[in-house]
Amino acid sequence: MANPNTALDLTPDQSERLWDSVLQLVAAHPQRLRNGRATPAALDPAVVRSNVGAVDLERACEARQAVEHLAEGLYEHQVHPPHPRYFGLFNPAATEAGVAGDALTALFNPNVAAWSHSPFATEIEQRLIRELGALFGFEPSAVHGTFAAGGMEANHTAVLTALSSSFPRIAEAGLRGLDADPVFYVSAECHHSFHRAARVCGLGSMALRAVPVDDQLRMDAAALSAMIEADAAAGLAPFLVVGTAGTTNAGAIDPLEAVGTAARKHGVWFHVDAAWAGAATLHPRWRQLLAGCEKADSVTIDAHKWFSAPMGAGVFLTTRRGALDQAFRVDNPYMPREADGAAVVDQYQQGLQWSRRFIGLKLWLSLRLHGWEGYRAAVERMQRVGDYLQDRLLADGWHVLNDTPLPIVCFAASPDSSESELEAIRAAVFASGEAWISTTRLGGRQVALRACVTNFRTNEQDVDRLAEYLQRARRLA
Ligand SMILES: *Cc1c(COP(=O)(O)O)cnc(C)c1O
Repeated sequence: MANPNTALDLTPDQSERLWDSVLQLVAAHPQRLRNGRATPAALDPAVVRSNVGAVDLERACEARQAVEHLAEGLYEHQVHPPHPRYFGLFNPAATEAGVAGDALTALFNPNVAAWSHSPFATEIEQRLIRELGALFGFEPSAVHGTFAAGGMEANHTAVLTALSSSFPRIAEAGLRGLDADPVFYVSAECHHSFHRAARVCGLGSMALRAVPVDDQLRMDAAALSAMIEADAAAGLAPFLVVGTAGTTNAGAIDPLEAVGTAARKHGVWFHVDAAWAGAATLHPRWRQLLAGCEKADSVTIDAHKWFSAPMGAGVFLTTRRGALDQAFRVDNPYMPREADGAAVVDQYQQGLQWSRRFIGLKLWLSLRLHGWEGYRAAVERMQRVGDYLQDRLLADGWHVLNDTPLPIVCFAASPDSSESELEAIRAAVFASGEAWISTTRLGGRQVALRACVTNFRTNEQDVDRLAEYLQRARRLA
């Protein structure tokens, strides 16, 4: 029997107690969340630090005690994204199959960098990439891609891939070897990952052109064309246009057909950021909304958002054969060579990571247990609860400020609610522990409360409960 003092193996007894405690938590979690707070009762750094600081890390601890201390700490000191009344920022509850998938990833711990090391895992990820590509209308056999930590990394991959595809010299000469300064275009409502990518790719924030949006917060495609022409005439080098399918703020969907046409007309890479709302393609009724994606050069989609995989699971898809290779391929003497000559993909040549975990497993297992049919039903259900949320808020006299078929509602007490009034309402909801909602600014100006349905367990009663607490908070504000 392994001795816990000299080895990192557990005794059979310890192992049993560890997994018993974990399984009990897994089984009880959804109900415990539903009956408990969505938000921490207090945010006091001293309390949390002294709790964590008091743990004796020198000596081995009993399994059940360690798991219980951890669980109690997390229950008490966390905003709970898997809570059915977390109306937040696309961090849904993970499916139970996804949770098991994450544990199996750790158990087998395959390194999916090289095909020869993990052929089965690699082929599962490649199959998922083709399946996800098909949702966007791509010919499955023509889809390439990579799993990533999240949408941020997938969008960063988009900028790098478009850059090296547009300026092949960049691999050797870098940005300073280019004849003209590269610039790229996003909507003024795009995700901030592009602002960060502009900086960390060495382009600088001046290379990012924010195209104005219309009154529904969608990119103005005519303004985009005019900006590209003006920049090209001024000697700059436009290389990428990003359309957003479902903005983080308000669920706005850029006119993807027109944006894609403008990109093609000027010969620049067309990327669609569908990190969250890409899952709408599952349903024939909403697939229409994302029409135009099928002409994109690349797409970002997150498995850890509407597909309810545990974080982090981003995906970058592209139909440009060889583009990832061109951006990321480096050769080195220590890579496994067993698969040399076989027609396979070494995934480390396809993205930013080197040793990489089997990110696709949690989506694979969840998809195996529910099928696309199960996912389709879940997305449809969340759409319906989103419609109910909007109806309920309108019935209660709130002013809805955004216009989207997706289940995000941006709203205010009146058209000219002040920031302090809405902030007071948000804070009162947070303090009640009943729900989590946020505030934001639409079009960089108008303040709004924001509630989004992203959890497959959220139901109409949860919406009613949020609505009740919003009414109370409004009376107090
Ligand atoms: C969430 C989101 C991202 C960033 O993805 P992460 O997985 O959080 O890194 C990018 N774009 C959009 C539109 C998003 O909704």
